[in-house]
Amino acid sequence: MIVAVTGGKGGTGKSFVATNLAVLLSRNKSLVAADLDVEAPNDHILLGVDLENEEPVKIMFPFIDYEKCIKCRACVNVCDTGAMLAARDGTPYVIPRLCSGCKSCLFVCPTGAIVAGARIIGRTYRTPVHVGGSSFTLVTGVLKEGEEHTPPVVLAARRRALSLKSDIYLVDTAAGTSNTVSTAMYKASVAVAVTEPTPLGLHDLELILRVIDELEIPHRFVVVNRAGIGPDEEHSKIAARYGAEVVAKIPYTRDVVESYVKGVPLVVSRPESPASRALREVSDRILEVI
Ligand code: SF4
Ligand code: SF4
Repeated sequence: MIVAVTGGKGGTGKSFVATNLAVLLSRNKSLVAADLDVEAPNDHILLGVDLENEEPVKIMFPFIDYEKCIKCRACVNVCDTGAMLAARDGTPYVIPRLCSGCKSCLFVCPTGAIVAGARIIGRTYRTPVHVGGSSFTLVTGVLKEGEEHTPPVVLAARRRALSLKSDIYLVDTAAGTSNTVSTAMYKASVAVAVTEPTPLGLHDLELILRVIDELEIPHRFVVVNRAGIGPDEEHSKIAARYGAEVVAKIPYTRDVVESYVKGVPLVVSRPESPASRALREVSDRILEVI
């Protein structure tokens, strides 16, 4: 059972909701949380743990044997990321950070001058979390600085999470609606879209609900974070249009900010606060459908 916590817009508090849900859900079921926001993973910071059990994420990298190269430019013409370029005389060379490791150049080279090597573009981590009486595993994907290809790191972290035995896999996606987000949400049974009561939040909520609809995720919940900072009536209407329901409104209060600063989930540090009660409503609703 994959539960995806997502949000079209960045900065809505998606990771705040995901980490608190991980703590609440793991009180009832075994749980693996996967932080797939690989460009800016922060679930471990919100949970107050240091990342452990590092593994590299490698992709294929083409090395060129210039002894065999006849400068035909076939590799340059087939490369659609602009990673393979040619000098004036046709000598090919590769820009590593643009290479996605797709192997197309390897297949089209008529002389076997391209040799498959490997390059590290990121890392995954598996970290045990024990917080407030809850225990679960956090898998984190981290894209290496300067790299551009997020999907292999998302896939590697997702695979590592799914290889662990668990009742629930709770994935925290990146913001936005890119293929990184849909890769993270693939085959999810529950999607929790976190939004905020602003016009931009409303606009991006519709975008992410469209993606959720395309992926045919059956259970669709909307959480309005920072409730009270603006009107949110339209959020329910848009949610209904995509078969989703607003399951909770989390007020923006001082204790929410304090939980960020302390690195202790709010449901642990202030379990009786209104925001914690709202988070429990989301957790209960998820448990109803799984
Ligand atoms: S592996 Fe793919 S992306 Fe990389 S240089 Fe070859 S064709 Fe271009
Ligand atoms: S396809 Fe092979 S032979 Fe042709 S330019 Fe590229 S490396 Fe050289």
